[in-house]
Amino acid sequence: MSVVVVGAGLAGIACAAELVAAGVDVRVLDRADHVGGRMATRIVDGRAVDTGAAYFTVRDPGFAEVVARWRTAGLARPWTPELAVLSGDGPGRSPGPMRWSAPQGLRSLVEHLACGLPVQLGRNVRRVGPGPTVDGRPAGTVVLAMPDPQAVRILDPGLAAHAAAAGRRWRPVLAVAAGFATRSWEPLPAAFVNGHPVLSMVADDGARRGDAAPVLVAHTTSAMARAHDADPDAAIPEVLAAVSELLAVHDEPVWTRVYRWRYAAPESDRDEPFLLGDDGVALAGDGWGSSRIETAWRSGTLLGRELARRHAAT
Ligand SMILES: Cc1cc2nc3c(=O)[nH]c(=O)nc-3n(C[C@H](O)[C@H](O)[C@H](O)COP(=O)(O)OP(=O)(O)OC[C@H]3O[C@@H](n4cnc5c(N)ncnc54)[C@H](O)[C@@H]3O)c2cc1C
Repeated sequence: MSVVVVGAGLAGIACAAELVAAGVDVRVLDRADHVGGRMATRIVDGRAVDTGAAYFTVRDPGFAEVVARWRTAGLARPWTPELAVLSGDGPGRSPGPMRWSAPQGLRSLVEHLACGLPVQLGRNVRRVGPGPTVDGRPAGTVVLAMPDPQAVRILDPGLAAHAAAAGRRWRPVLAVAAGFATRSWEPLPAAFVNGHPVLSMVADDGARRGDAAPVLVAHTTSAMARAHDADPDAAIPEVLAAVSELLAVHDEPVWTRVYRWRYAAPESDRDEPFLLGDDGVALAGDGWGSSRIETAWRSGTLLGRELARRHAAT
């Protein structure tokens, strides 16, 4: 019996890639019209803008191999080992691991990994039931590779995965992208904004993309996102005012867009890399570990390997 992976973000695609490599019959379904999930890239004014994840880091040797392939394909590049920190105590720096970016946007990385995989887009799954079944049709194993609240919405309450995902809180974020006529701010890769009521981060999209386009992307605090959940556009003036003040940008933007992420990141970490229930329903994604891109890859990859191992043993 085949594996159905619901969710074509990095976790779902990494899981499917392992299964296909092991000769397991697999299908990936996603409700969106593209792969990538929160590694989100939108074309605005003819240019790609990262509107979800800001960058990624690499620790796992297996992920490093994948990143090396992306780099060889010209899709990933080391961006900066240090980000700025803006806070009430004045400016600071956040040294750390190399932050990587994607010249064509982070979604291009998932697209690269998804090449040749059986992915069906525009397929909104409504119910995963005992059996297991996907919208009433039987499957050998079902993998839900998505944030817990999205999984809970479609899982039958009798499944072990429902109990594992239910009640876990995720933080929202609004991402406000703004394009300017010229770059009027001091050079900046990106800045964490600490203790601010409106902003949690501002990234220079032209710097991370490497084309120097005058585009900034600001991420809000969860409180700001919750306050504007019903009308995200109404947050734009406040976000722009905060960006202008912090970065001393005095020009008006030529365009702005706002993107609402109701489930940007979980409020707490888990130790296990995935859940695989005896009832044939599994959970994977960045909610399994410490929420970040590398975690999503690792979760999907390890689950895919475990399913392939069980398949080979039958
Ligand atoms: C604003 C923001 C900033 C971030 N910044 C960073 C960062 O700087 N560095 C970093 O490492 N990480 C960052 N992240 C987190 C990173 O984006 C995630 O860790 C990673 O992309 C998660 O991948 P995933 O495959 O687990 O889930 P997702 O990418 O969320 O994929 C889930 C998929 O499931 C699909 N789906 C959901 N429900 C259904 C359904 N019923 N039927 C069919 N399909 C469905 C969705 O369409 C989606 O494609 C950020 C995220 C956000 C939102």
